[in-house]
Amino acid sequence: MHLISLKKANMTTFRRTLFSLACVPFGFGLAHAAPSGGADTIFFGGPIVTVNAKNEEVQALAIQGGKIVAVGTALSVKKNWQTSNTKLVDLKGQTLMPGFVEPHIHIIGTAMSEVLGLNLSNFTLPYDTLDTLVAKMRAHLKTVPAGGWLFGFGVDPSRTTPFMAELNADTLDKVSTTVPIFIVNQSGHIGYVNHKALELAGVTENTPNPGGGGVYVKGANGKLNGILIEPPTYTPFMAKMPVPSPEQLAGAVKKTTQNIAAAGVTTSAEITLGFNFGLENETKLLQSLSANEGLPIRIRAYLYGPAIPAGYKALKPGDGDDRLKFVGVKFISDGSTQGLTAALNEPYIYPKNTKNAGDLDYKTDDLYKQMKVYFDQGWQIAVHANGDRAIDQTLTNYGKLLANNPHPEERRLRIEHFTINTPEQVSKAVRLGVVPGFTIGHVDYWGEAFHNQLVGPDRADRIDPSAAFKKAGGRFAYHSDSPVSDVGPLNYIAEGAGRLWQKPPRKVLGPDERVTVDDAIRAVTINPAYEMMSDDKIGSLEVGKLADLVILDKNPRKTPVEQIANIKVKETWIDGKRQSW
Ligand SMILES: [Zn+2]
Repeated sequence: MHLISLKKANMTTFRRTLFSLACVPFGFGLAHAAPSGGADTIFFGGPIVTVNAKNEEVQALAIQGGKIVAVGTALSVKKNWQTSNTKLVDLKGQTLMPGFVEPHIHIIGTAMSEVLGLNLSNFTLPYDTLDTLVAKMRAHLKTVPAGGWLFGFGVDPSRTTPFMAELNADTLDKVSTTVPIFIVNQSGHIGYVNHKALELAGVTENTPNPGGGGVYVKGANGKLNGILIEPPTYTPFMAKMPVPSPEQLAGAVKKTTQNIAAAGVTTSAEITLGFNFGLENETKLLQSLSANEGLPIRIRAYLYGPAIPAGYKALKPGDGDDRLKFVGVKFISDGSTQGLTAALNEPYIYPKNTKNAGDLDYKTDDLYKQMKVYFDQGWQIAVHANGDRAIDQTLTNYGKLLANNPHPEERRLRIEHFTINTPEQVSKAVRLGVVPGFTIGHVDYWGEAFHNQLVGPDRADRIDPSAAFKKAGGRFAYHSDSPVSDVGPLNYIAEGAGRLWQKPPRKVLGPDERVTVDDAIRAVTINPAYEMMSDDKIGSLEVGKLADLVILDKNPRKTPVEQIANIKVKETWIDGKRQSW
């Protein structure tokens, strides 16, 4: 969608085109007549879940030249499309579905955290303690070369025993006083450094806090305690860390995309392009890797707002191709709920009698001015907003951006996470055509902490309000926010439909917000495709769409919700070609 070149005069025509695009019902049912040259491949012999408007299943699907040319009965598809050159794929009872679409992954961030750094994420039981974390870091220390830093990701006080036990410079000094250490919290919004790292980065008690919500935290004694709030505080440390070589980074990104594909994903967002190594470097990296079908997934890239240089002209909205396309600009308006930094209207309930309600990263008008520049250029806008105060701010700004637009849904403004929310916010978001993306793993991994410790039952029950959005006539999508939680769309389906939290005794968090398995399937296929301006090409198995497929050992529609996460991904296909991962 090349929005940028459109002048105001063209907008009406443009709107009509876009609107009709979004509404075109793709041909379904009988195989189309008059095939030219026959199909390259025909799948049959197992349920084929189309995720079309009626959630229909069919017996066979034919592809030609990387596109779906027929879906329907095995008899009709074979009769009309099979030639002597057609490859027949017998599913043998396995299930064929549209490849999953992941609308919020930090691909390069995940490569840094899980491939190049020490991965401390722990989504299993039992939780870590500070002692087990220190032991893991000590064991990793041997692999840090001379002059290197120990970089790690994934500690999580809200999933640590005792609850909220947190690393600081003194704890990290137990790992090393000579090797600088920089650890990022599971949420990505909090960092921990040892005294050596503070010294090398030149951050002292006199260093002013950076903008964007950044705080160098001081202890009761007035000294820096090694805790860093919000990513702008990371900059002086990252500036001193050795940068991975281009080959190392490219290898790590490739590995990350293979892991994403292995989870059944055929299209993923890079949601903060430019965050780690600057916009130009990261753009070139993805362009070179994705060229000549070099990656096993498609990518939809969102430029990280603060990384865009003034007067930036290198990319326009919609630049790229079907494999790698640049579609939006992303901002971050608050922190993490489980990190107690999401901006809430009422304070957290932890610790007792706290007045902390988190902070907004920007003044409302400052953020508005920044996003308006890119909105006017035609970029899609995405804003991270976890807390209800941040959601209020984002909806206010979106209301202003869309004030003179009779078709706000065409811009598909995104709110990322939409975690702590009110019913009024859901209605307003639907009115503005906003597509929310839920980190549905919040329910699973942090649901018990939200409910019992952090915000209380009323606010916790309503997180990730899937049923509320459906009832209000809106769409919603699920994502991992990887590396914040693990990529696994089958798991998101189970989390959205079951809403069971992990920590024993397991309970359903907000039973009213459970959705059907079919709705949850839409939240990992066609809805995120819509969310990323790509539903005309991907997200369902319909004639005319790209042949992006996943083969599963079981049909999630026929599997008990609590077993859906155990379904195995057998194959993924893009453009009608099987991917290796
Ligand atoms: Zn994120």
